[in-house]
Amino acid sequence: MAARDGVVVCPGSYDPVTNGHLDIITRTSHVFERVVVGVVNNPLRKEKTLFSAEERKALIDEATVDLGNVETQIFSNLLVEFARELGAKAIVKGLRAISDFEYEFEMAQLNRKLDPEIESIYMIASPEYSFLSSTGVREMATFGGDVSDLVPTPVAAAMTKRLGDR
Ligand code: ADP
Repeated sequence: MAARDGVVVCPGSYDPVTNGHLDIITRTSHVFERVVVGVVNNPLRKEKTLFSAEERKALIDEATVDLGNVETQIFSNLLVEFARELGAKAIVKGLRAISDFEYEFEMAQLNRKLDPEIESIYMIASPEYSFLSSTGVREMATFGGDVSDLVPTPVAAAMTKRLGDR
């Protein structure tokens, strides 16, 4: 595979996007020609997300505006189907700790079974972000913690507003 070859998908809930996600998206954009950030819209999920899929997409768009080969799309079908529709050759995900590994190992095997042509590629989290998750950021912000070092400024502002509205 030539460097900067092909389309890949970086899927996730992104509720909200964090600096850890952006690190993976940026590094992926240096390797592949086109990166589609796939925002999962799962209306069947029991827990309600803090932000709607459209809001999550808008926050990612704003944070990736300077990356010329990155775009964001919302999807509600199976990840491999979404990847196939885009003509993507791979799914790229971040791997933080051993705790991520077991789940991702299972997902990668399942996705390969569904479509052997689409590879799952894992990028190791940068050490400074390896502790960072959207859930952690949401919990911190809910209890008034300062998240300004963990998420882009517009995301921190949107969280303060949303949590204040509740
Ligand atoms: P979270 O687990 O934070 O709720 P998502 O479900 O939105 O995240 O995850 C999208 C992708 O980003 C997953 O592949 C996840 O492993 C990865 N990811 C999330 N946070 C980080 C981080 N801090 N560093 C590297 N990858 C991450």
